[in-house]
Amino acid sequence: MNKLSSQELMDIEHRYGAHNYHPLEVVIAKAEGIWVEDPEGKRYIDMLSAYSAVNQGHRHPAIIKALKDQADILTLTSRAFFNDRWPIFAKKLSELTGKEMILPMNTGAEAVETAIKTMRKWGYLVKKVDADKAEIIVFSDNFHGRTTTIVSFSTDPLAKDNYGPFTPGFKIIPYNDLKAVEKAVNNNTVGIMVEPIQGEAGVVVPDDGYLKGLSAIAGKNNILLAVDEIQTGFCRTGKLFAYQHEDIDPDIIIMGKALGGGVFPVSAVAANQDVLGVFKPGSHGSTFGGNPLGCAVAMASIDVLLDEKLAERAAEMGSYFMSQLKDLQKKTTKIKLVRGKGLLIGVVLHESAGKARQYTTALKAKGLLCKETHDWIIRFAPPLVITKADIDAAMEKIREVLG
Ligand SMILES: *Cc1c(COP(=O)(O)O)cnc(C)c1O
Repeated sequence: MNKLSSQELMDIEHRYGAHNYHPLEVVIAKAEGIWVEDPEGKRYIDMLSAYSAVNQGHRHPAIIKALKDQADILTLTSRAFFNDRWPIFAKKLSELTGKEMILPMNTGAEAVETAIKTMRKWGYLVKKVDADKAEIIVFSDNFHGRTTTIVSFSTDPLAKDNYGPFTPGFKIIPYNDLKAVEKAVNNNTVGIMVEPIQGEAGVVVPDDGYLKGLSAIAGKNNILLAVDEIQTGFCRTGKLFAYQHEDIDPDIIIMGKALGGGVFPVSAVAANQDVLGVFKPGSHGSTFGGNPLGCAVAMASIDVLLDEKLAERAAEMGSYFMSQLKDLQKKTTKIKLVRGKGLLIGVVLHESAGKARQYTTALKAKGLLCKETHDWIIRFAPPLVITKADIDAAMEKIREVLG
């Protein structure tokens, strides 16, 4: 196996890998549950969970078993043929989401692209919007992925600069402002695409009733509501999907990340027949979408979430963790705000405390991995299998660094 030191590995990556990330200076060589380990054998609590892709914990035995068992039988067929896993996974995900149909892709960005294509095609074929006039409403500080079309409606210059010309057809309005949505709607509006909580923006939680308001506006105006649950879904916020904190029924559910159990990229879009039915053979697809290996992993990933009641666990552990962080906030001048839902938590620092990076670096030195988002916010999002004792151990380190 690999005998190189952390420093050597980082040097090699720096030399040969494109610099499209700015990782914390830690190399992970091994992982289990909430724990990761570097080549020198130092252990860390993972409080990022690969941006919520390992909600089930690293290398969950049931998911790894599904991966290995399926790898021994069949891995890829393409959709030129049927395979014996995709139908079963489609049925399972349909029952889980309460939507009639599923379209499988691989990465989150591909699922978002699929939702955009769905809303547009539905707009032309069903709503009868004039050719090439369809508009989709999106929100400032959104994060929906990295493709050219998706960064076309980003408001983050880092994500967007020098990638033009951009895809038209998106109206960007402020998040958490229903009046702005009412004003933005017109006869060409085919969809509203929203993150129930804006994760990358720094765990921005909208007011209670916001999603309900969006759903009402969409319903009244014959517009599709698409929720991007790629980060918030699969129990992260204390419900299976974050939109379930409000009593709404979105038209389109976009899923990714933890659907693959931290093992394999699996993403999907769920919607009813009157919406996803707009696709005909040849109009959309993916070579790996619906591959048997991904389907087997995704089915096991869902089973783990349900069997281990990880939504309830995220709610319970999240409220404990958040209350501990709020206690700390009262005792320190560094923390401005603690916000979030379930185990998706953002700690906003006062500018006088200095940038978040120095604190994530200090936490790393103490054996806790988390990542800053923007300059002043630290996101804590551990695997949902975390225990109260683990949180107590993590809080000790957090108190030492942020107290
Ligand atoms: C991560 C993420 C995406 C993109 O997923 P990728 O798998 O990185 O393409 C899209 N939307 C949200 C809300 C995300 O958190």
